[in-house]
Amino acid sequence: MKEKRQIVVATLAMVALFTVYEWAKTAIFPDMSVTTSHVITIIVAGVITAIISRQVIKRQSRLIDEQKNSNERLREALATAERSTNLLQSIITSVDEGLIIIDRNQRILLINDAAQSLLNLRRKDFERLPDISRDPPIIEAFLSVLTKGERASTRVEITVGINKRILRLQTAPLRFSDQQVEGVVGAFIDITQLERLESIRQAFLANVSHELRTPLTSITAYTETLLDGGLNDQANSLRFLNTIHRNAERMRNLVNDISELSLIEAGAVQLSFDRLSLHSVVSEVFNGLAPRSEKYQVQLRNEVPEDCSVIADRRRLEQILINLVDNAIKFNKPQGEVIVGASITEEQTIIRVRDSGVGISPEHLSRVFERFYRVDKARSRELGGTGLGLAIVKHLTRAHGGDAEVNSTIGQGCEFIIKLPNRDSLAI
Ligand code: ADP
Repeated sequence: MKEKRQIVVATLAMVALFTVYEWAKTAIFPDMSVTTSHVITIIVAGVITAIISRQVIKRQSRLIDEQKNSNERLREALATAERSTNLLQSIITSVDEGLIIIDRNQRILLINDAAQSLLNLRRKDFERLPDISRDPPIIEAFLSVLTKGERASTRVEITVGINKRILRLQTAPLRFSDQQVEGVVGAFIDITQLERLESIRQAFLANVSHELRTPLTSITAYTETLLDGGLNDQANSLRFLNTIHRNAERMRNLVNDISELSLIEAGAVQLSFDRLSLHSVVSEVFNGLAPRSEKYQVQLRNEVPEDCSVIADRRRLEQILINLVDNAIKFNKPQGEVIVGASITEEQTIIRVRDSGVGISPEHLSRVFERFYRVDKARSRELGGTGLGLAIVKHLTRAHGGDAEVNSTIGQGCEFIIKLPNRDSLAI
């Protein structure tokens, strides 16, 4: 419409221009011959046409340039959009969280690989939410977001084979510009391990407070007795003081072991590896424990070959051996013995701590490395044990890249085996 008007205006302008031109030409040159007049008219018309054509061509090429630019911009915008889509796609595919997006009619818009594996689905070509899961908490979680339009978090338990998997489902409304809920985004996170660790942590705390409360109760009771006049009873007051001292020692050992264990578990223990003579490390451990072995009348025998060396952190290796040899003494019989030996294979140095003590029955064997696990609670406490010694042994050995095991024949003794990798086969 606009263009048509422009053409009409341009034509009228041309007609007007030529009329004025013809009039001016006749007025100025009344005697001009027809031929000359035509020649002049042709020249003038040519010049005007040339000027107009030039303008038109310029305008046209500017339009073409603009068109080109806008095409270029469009192409760029499309490329950017494609890159964003690919990026989004790869994020959705690679995240550990399972993602499911549904629309208002519970139709599946998206389900990623993680959701498929977390929910143990065999295929991905589902159409509606109920096809994916008939699990009421899952369905309810999605539907409640559709009706209420608010974010929510739900704990979901699903069975995978013989195992139970615990998931946290976080649901959020999907809104476009008009603020109406168009669908729901659900993110599934596997919290099985987290809950397991949380229950271990709670059990550990319960154990710790129980273990601390027992000696503390004893200390408080005996102190009160002494304060209430027990001090005047010379013979008994010494006995009470000894009990208080023993319990305070036990608490100190416990606190030391707990902080040691938490440091190791937090990975805060820095090991400094050296090539050590295992024979001399064992001798030193034996020297330190000589008063204990005398008290329990137990013989200590170092059967580690003199030339046997091991690459380990000296202080931590000593700690491992002290815990094992101390147990081997404590749980021995009078006139019993503790033998430490070692052998080296291509990959490992194997240290064996054997005793001739009471031994451990098979049902307890697999559990003695657990924190606070004791075969005979009363006996362990009486011997000043914390129930953490073997847990520390296991963790320290693992921090060295090795492992700890135990064999036993009840009534005949135990053999604790520490396997440490030869460092050539392990990058340090
Ligand atoms: P504790 O402080 O009680 O010694 P540990 O973690 O060192 O704690 O050991 C856990 C339990 O394993 C002990 O209470 C004991 O019942 C058993 N145990 C450990 N070493 C021996 C051993 N050499 N002989 C028999 N029982 C042992």
